[in-house]
Amino acid sequence: MKPFAFARPADVAEAVRTVAADPAAVFLAGGTNLVDHLKLGVATPDVVVDVRRLTSREIADTADGGLRMGAAVTNSELAADRRVRERYPVLAQALLAGASGQLRNAATTGGNPLQRTRCVYFSDVTTPCNKREPGSGCSAIGGYTRYHAVLGVPPTPPGPTAPDTCIATHPSDMAVALAALDAQVQVLGPHGERTIPFVELHRLPDGDPSRDTVLEHGDLITAIDLPALPLAVNSQYRKVRDRASYAFALVSVAAALEVADGVVRDVRIALGGVAHKPWRATAAEEALRGAPATEESYRAAAAAELAGAVPQPGIDDGNAFKIPLVGRTLIAVLRDLTPSEA
Ligand code: SF4
Repeated sequence: MKPFAFARPADVAEAVRTVAADPAAVFLAGGTNLVDHLKLGVATPDVVVDVRRLTSREIADTADGGLRMGAAVTNSELAADRRVRERYPVLAQALLAGASGQLRNAATTGGNPLQRTRCVYFSDVTTPCNKREPGSGCSAIGGYTRYHAVLGVPPTPPGPTAPDTCIATHPSDMAVALAALDAQVQVLGPHGERTIPFVELHRLPDGDPSRDTVLEHGDLITAIDLPALPLAVNSQYRKVRDRASYAFALVSVAAALEVADGVVRDVRIALGGVAHKPWRATAAEEALRGAPATEESYRAAAAAELAGAVPQPGIDDGNAFKIPLVGRTLIAVLRDLTPSEA
């Protein structure tokens, strides 16, 4: 492991100034992902800036009826909060579907969405990887692709040596729920405070796979806000994985559904395990609003969302299985959320 300096600033402003002043400085929150990367040589900072005790650890009601979740709130605390469980069950379920109890006790609200891909080549410093080392190539093209993307991928992905190729997926369960819930991210950066819609926080590779998010160097997430969203009372997170616990999603679905008189009045859907970012399923949502709350509508919505899906071949038989799997999972979740009288 490369030696680094460790800094404990007095407040968030000093923390932001410290990181912004050094291109090789990083923030440390729960450390559940960064510490692994320090040991593996995936992350090689000069300075690690500890913000664990600087941001809020409170979950507060907001004036509009939503919740503000401080960046230092742990995943365990958030999943156990009665307001989250009752008003946003999809978020509590997503949190509990992630990692292990020990990890959830350390992982934070601000850190979880910033965890990095679990593409096996990304964490193996002996292999080419455009995300870890820009321009080195993409070992996943023609390699192991079981956990890789099928949405947001060009119809013919560039070859393994193209500098902008990356077919990795984002690993966070929590982020899929936040994408569905219209969350807003509060950021303090070198140029002040700003708010970023959660669905715009993460990015597709778009020529630079090394950047997972739109955050600039020195930007610190201080809180994440949930709006008042009455339909979220009827919401669900379902994760399909290779084993029952402590595994990343092959595919996942976060959805909230409002049905009245047998018609879909409103809906929110996001998909996980299928793209470089948590995937807000806007095509499926548009297909569903105003449609009968029936199996036929749900099938049509899944087909609309997955029309542009691109399977990846691979030495492990590829990931074409993900496309029907995420479609079936979405249909099953919508069916579960449909009131019995609809
Ligand atoms: Fe690296 Fe992305 Fe290719 Fe994985 S898919 S090897 S993270 S460039």
